[in-house]
Amino acid sequence: MPRRALASLSFALAALLLFVPALCAQPAKLIAQKIAPGVWFLPGDSSQGYCNNIVIEMKDYLIVVDANYPGRALELVKQIAQLSPKPVRFVFDTHAHRDHAYGNIVWTRAGATTFAYQGVLDEMDRYEPARWLATAAEREDVRALDLHDAPRPQLVFRRSPFILKDSTREVRFYFFGWAHTRGDGFVWLPRERVLCTGDAAVNGPRNKLWDANLANWPRVLARALALQPLHVLPGHGDAGGPEILLGQKLFLEDLCAAIRQQIAVGKSLSQITPALPLRDRNWIPADLSSDFAIAYAEFTQHKPAGDIPHQWQ
Ligand SMILES: [Zn+2]
Repeated sequence: MPRRALASLSFALAALLLFVPALCAQPAKLIAQKIAPGVWFLPGDSSQGYCNNIVIEMKDYLIVVDANYPGRALELVKQIAQLSPKPVRFVFDTHAHRDHAYGNIVWTRAGATTFAYQGVLDEMDRYEPARWLATAAEREDVRALDLHDAPRPQLVFRRSPFILKDSTREVRFYFFGWAHTRGDGFVWLPRERVLCTGDAAVNGPRNKLWDANLANWPRVLARALALQPLHVLPGHGDAGGPEILLGQKLFLEDLCAAIRQQIAVGKSLSQITPALPLRDRNWIPADLSSDFAIAYAEFTQHKPAGDIPHQWQ
């Protein structure tokens, strides 16, 4: 090869070597939907099991709703500056489930304070470290933290609502009762009429009922609806409006009514064939058998499903 061609080839290679690390260092673009000024909805990649996040900008700092899994928390810690240069001061766990709370330690290492309603801590004390250890066996992002228990929220509140307020915004953190879990927290922005629901309301066939109180859950959603939100930001599925709360509530009411009716006519679990109305189609999973079994257990044992010994699946 002529010397000039060789020189230009090695120059091209050197340029490539310089360029590749620069490409790798560039954090991916954060996908964020602006809901109101300083309020962003960050859809979670469901193929990774991630929940949705919400970022709320205050005068001097940011609030992040849900810690998510550690893998997503690490991404967000790097990417959140794309929304605002302010530091993340608070991360609110809407509930104790792994896809909402296991990233807690990532945020605290990045300088934030994690917090939740007292019921989240109680729920973790009830179910951990068994769930953490089972999840670490199947997920690299959890295993990589090399912990033997779920990191708890650092602060808890017992009186609802807990309020964060400054000259720019008020944010209320509500507990309305036992629904999806014993500790479901809602985040409410009264001026912007934005409500973050965690998994107390999901948009789509993504409900997990094992830890729930099915009979009480619709009452909790009625209290959330009474706030009259314009924007409803669920724990999973697309953002929308109050129709998410209403649809979730009707699905649960219809599920409970159908199962109760089958129990009333003496059907055993293997015999029940309840049908749910068409209006619930957005929330009906392909296989309803575990939802039926959970509801059947709650209404035949006369206590919340979450109070009946069960394994997370
Ligand atoms: Zn959940």
